[in-house]
Amino acid sequence: PTSGATTPNIVPTIPSELSPPAPGERVNATFITLARNTDIWEIARSIRQVEDRFNRNYNYDWVFLNDKPFDETFKKVTSSLVSGKTHYGEIPVEHWSFPPWIDQKKAEAVREDMRRRKIIYGDSISYRHMCRFESGFFFRHPLLQQFEYYWRVEPSVELFCDIHYDPFRYMKENKKKYSFVLSLYEYVETIPTLWDSAKKFIKDHPEHISPDNSMAFLSDDGGDTYNKCHFWSNFEIGNLDWLRSQAYLDFFESLDKDGGFFYERWGDAPVHSIAAGLLLRKDEIHFFNDIAYYHVPFTHCPTGDDVRLKLRCHCNPADNFDWKGYSCTSRFFDLNKLKKPAGWEAQV
Ligand code: GDP
Ligand code: MN
Repeated sequence: PTSGATTPNIVPTIPSELSPPAPGERVNATFITLARNTDIWEIARSIRQVEDRFNRNYNYDWVFLNDKPFDETFKKVTSSLVSGKTHYGEIPVEHWSFPPWIDQKKAEAVREDMRRRKIIYGDSISYRHMCRFESGFFFRHPLLQQFEYYWRVEPSVELFCDIHYDPFRYMKENKKKYSFVLSLYEYVETIPTLWDSAKKFIKDHPEHISPDNSMAFLSDDGGDTYNKCHFWSNFEIGNLDWLRSQAYLDFFESLDKDGGFFYERWGDAPVHSIAAGLLLRKDEIHFFNDIAYYHVPFTHCPTGDDVRLKLRCHCNPADNFDWKGYSCTSRFFDLNKLKKPAGWEAQV
């Protein structure tokens, strides 16, 4: 190089490939991540993929929540990766602690018992606060009040295909309230009395139960017992106004009073799923076949060679979990009388 050559900037300014969408083109929506400071490099990977596959063309905001203050590294790295605005919030202590009606001794004995029985996260207090927060509180955080839709993103997830349309807009235009990409059976040891609580809620609040509900997704005997099917909530695109509705708030409060977040280890996935199954109309729940996703240990890789090539997917179709025996997605298709994508039989 000649002596006059310029040194490249460490952080060069690169014009974005597409200009940001015009106002009105976007839906009132945000990404949402609950994370610890130590999750930084795992969430960075997730964000990079969401941006590359979708958000670089849309520039939606991203809300980060934590039970502790975020540190400078977390904020610097995430704000450099997100193409939209970033917001960082601390969780109020009332949303991340034992409510007064919980018997601490009883809760401790349960953790000890689950530790001995080697139930995953069974001995963890923080995991229980996390599940209760995701079940009943994240949507009440002040930073989320301005938004109508959310898309939950966890650390270390992968997106394998381009997303060539706006899923938020799809949700809004089609009046969808909740969506999923993977579904499966819950470990019964973590929720032995969850269905009893759900049935109590049904009895106490018949006014909240949708006449066109998805009971057939949740139960094989008309509601007597729970079949453990749930939508995997580490991926969710949903409507915040639904979660903030009286129906959902009553549902959560009823469950919370029963104490199973601490006396058992209720996950937010079965809680959200039972709520969606009971409170929503069947056609308000959506399965995104074209959003290819991985969270350890399951993959949703779209069924159909044409879709995967068109969307520049890099997942192995053999890894797709949708039609395997431990997935509940087939059941979702059947009860909604949806046509399964061509080629699904070969993956059973
Ligand atoms: P898993 O997917 O069920 O194995 O649970 P994860 O460890 O992925 O936790 C679920 C989500 O909650 C992730 O987004 C984590 O970053 C977050 N999370 C879990 N525990 C805590 C915690 O104690 N504090 C905070 N701030 N976030 C947490
Ligand atoms: Mn996770």
